[in-house]
Amino acid sequence: MGVGALGYVGRGFDTVVLPALGRPLEETGCISCGQCVSVCPTGALQEHLPMKKQIPLETEETDTICGFCSMGCAQKTMTHGSLAVKAIPDPGGPVNAGVLCVNGRFGFSSACREEERISVPMLKVNGTVTGASYHDALVMTAKSMQSAARRYGSDAVAVAVSARFTTEEAYLAKKLADQLGAKIFSFSNRVCGLEPVLGLNASPNTMDELMGTEVILAVGFDAQANQVMRVKLMQAAKAGAQVVLINPVGYEQEHMEFAAKAVYTDNNPGFLKQVAKVLAETKTAASGKSPAQSAAEADAADLSSVADATVSDEAAEIAALYQNAKKAMIVFQQHVVSVSCAELIADIAVLSGHIGSPRDGIVMLKPKNNSQGLVQLGITAGAECLEGVKALLVLGENPDPEMVKNVEFLAVCDTHLTSLAREADVILPGTAPIHAEGSYINTERRFQMTHAALEPEAGFRNWQVICELAEALEMPFSCDAEDDIEREMADSLTWYREASEGEVIGGVLKPVKQVLTAVKDDVFAEPSANTDYLMDIIK
Ligand code: SF4
Ligand code: SF4
Repeated sequence: MGVGALGYVGRGFDTVVLPALGRPLEETGCISCGQCVSVCPTGALQEHLPMKKQIPLETEETDTICGFCSMGCAQKTMTHGSLAVKAIPDPGGPVNAGVLCVNGRFGFSSACREEERISVPMLKVNGTVTGASYHDALVMTAKSMQSAARRYGSDAVAVAVSARFTTEEAYLAKKLADQLGAKIFSFSNRVCGLEPVLGLNASPNTMDELMGTEVILAVGFDAQANQVMRVKLMQAAKAGAQVVLINPVGYEQEHMEFAAKAVYTDNNPGFLKQVAKVLAETKTAASGKSPAQSAAEADAADLSSVADATVSDEAAEIAALYQNAKKAMIVFQQHVVSVSCAELIADIAVLSGHIGSPRDGIVMLKPKNNSQGLVQLGITAGAECLEGVKALLVLGENPDPEMVKNVEFLAVCDTHLTSLAREADVILPGTAPIHAEGSYINTERRFQMTHAALEPEAGFRNWQVICELAEALEMPFSCDAEDDIEREMADSLTWYREASEGEVIGGVLKPVKQVLTAVKDDVFAEPSANTDYLMDIIK
């Protein structure tokens, strides 16, 4: 894992593998990924299982995809009856090839946490939450949404869906919203800074390409959020890539000693603007045109926002390294870097020409395991959708309850009694990734199937709750099993019909356009708020 946690202690025949320098493991750089347990050839290292008595159990193995971040690591989840015992990395995983981070390795049990688990529907009556039948909870939700639509117009009704739902569950949520004439959005969606510049709301390149590129700029990179990406950067560095980390102060990274250079800047776009200015001037000089001519030809508000930057030697050096590479890529996290800096990153790629071909472009990490799946379905709106909403159904999200204070009717479907669920008029039991059967589309558009390792205690999976709600709204969906949803999606969505399991939808994407944008004086890093209860407790 490249963290120097374990080492050889002692000499000669007495040498043993121990935490580095014989210190306690917690005093080393250990990132608790469990990889040593996975590869230990003797069984000397074992994880503590999530049960009181540590006894060997016969387990069943299910192929799952990690439901935490957008990398899309493949796992094998081990269960014994209704008990989730452990999750181990799948050596054949196309993204992770046998590696997991702590969230994927040990986060599976979060879904099974007993405290505040919702196992029956609930209604709030006169301010008191009481258990109810599915029939009463679903009818109340349907009637309240219909009456808000009649009273205020269908724009006053909205459905929010979590980016951890499978693509099939999110498809049904959208279908429900469409049939109601309601808005559909996700609190976790963030405006994509690549879109105004490249016309893409997706990572143009794939992660494997990092292994064959020459220079990688990791910009605004927080390894904690996507540890397996740090491992990929380390592997790329070992394969010969020069990795340059450009982060704001306050985002210092551990275990990135493999980087050829690490620059910590103020938390504003100043340093990136300097890099962009050097690239713009190089491009202008190469074209033989005056800066004014070149700027006039640039398709938009162009270079004016970087023209005033005073270029430091460090920025000039990094710009030259990046510009002169035959192949170069940028890696950034959409949920860490501000929207304006994401635009600037796209500008930098356009100015350098490093965009639109294999091993030459951008890998953008999205916030959650199926954020890209929502984009594929056209669910790109975020919390701005709440404007004027009076009746809201929230599927698996837990934003700050203050955000929905103007909503008159709130229904929440989630695994636990979250802070948002406590404010709801109707609470419906939801399911976690460990119960999910369907597809996730990772950040590089890789289409992967996950399988249910556990049956939901409450009886219904998320897709079944949506179908029951459609029934209560008297607009029934003809879905009796996950296969029915898949068949319907294949009939109506070309990209879904053509997607092959394990493959990247669309391959390396060429920009739809290349329009330089003027960059606002914003912050560099601006992490999105987490809107998912399960992600919170995993963290
Ligand atoms: S848990 Fe991960 S980081 Fe810690 S010692 Fe094991 S392999 Fe190394
Ligand atoms: S890197 Fe992301 S997808 Fe992979 S195991 Fe960690 S949290 Fe899960």
